[in-house]
Amino acid sequence: MRLKPEFARFSAFLLDCDGVLWRGEEPIPGAPEAVRALKASGKKVLFFTNNATLSRRGYLAKLRRLGFDAEPGEVYCSAYAAAVWLRGRVRRVYVVGEEGLVEELKLAGLELAGPEEAECVVVGLDRGLTYSKLEGALRCLSRGALLVATNGDPTLPTERGLAPGAGAILAALEAAAGRRADAVVGKPNAFMYELALREHGIRPGEALAVGDRLDTDVEGAKRAGLAAALVLTGAAKPSDLERARVKPDFVLGSIRDLFE
Ligand SMILES: [Mg+2]
Repeated sequence: MRLKPEFARFSAFLLDCDGVLWRGEEPIPGAPEAVRALKASGKKVLFFTNNATLSRRGYLAKLRRLGFDAEPGEVYCSAYAAAVWLRGRVRRVYVVGEEGLVEELKLAGLELAGPEEAECVVVGLDRGLTYSKLEGALRCLSRGALLVATNGDPTLPTERGLAPGAGAILAALEAAAGRRADAVVGKPNAFMYELALREHGIRPGEALAVGDRLDTDVEGAKRAGLAAALVLTGAAKPSDLERARVKPDFVLGSIRDLFE
């Protein structure tokens, strides 16, 4: 497989996962081969996701299970990005989120705490959400704790159709507390891309971000100063491009189309 000339000049490829590499538990046809071919041609490949239900370890296992050639250190998920953002700012956190988020927060040295002690409420997608979790979070926020979300995606695609995302849970807390989040760490925030560039010594001009969403992947890439390719195997439809505020540099049918 040979890269098309317009892509050969990039030395790093920052790939979104859901809608680019897989849908649910199904790899997108040609995606594992594309990742392997990028690496075989000496390109650096990094994996990104706004979904905070899994840790980097969890995503590495999923990538490998679905046939992708991935190594530790190549995975950037919003749970990790949130933990890095919080490290050094606060010590005790109240979590509305799942095991993967808790794992990354603990790895960063943060302590889980109850509503009376936490300095920050951290919100991610939580499929075990209860009213009492929201109530605890609100008590925390009423004491002046920070409100930080892994990502703001209002929905996420599932095998059954759209499901409420972390952004929907965040919106409930913002409404209850009467204030906006202090930070939303995932894309379109440039934070996760910038973290990866820093950790791997990549200059923005050398990297191409590949994503399936205009409002997160492409917008975040542009804020980080990266070239962006939109693939049509996920959320975005060709008709979305006309009204998009931020346009991708390239539009591809699928990630396979990086190659001739
Ligand atoms: Mg995606």
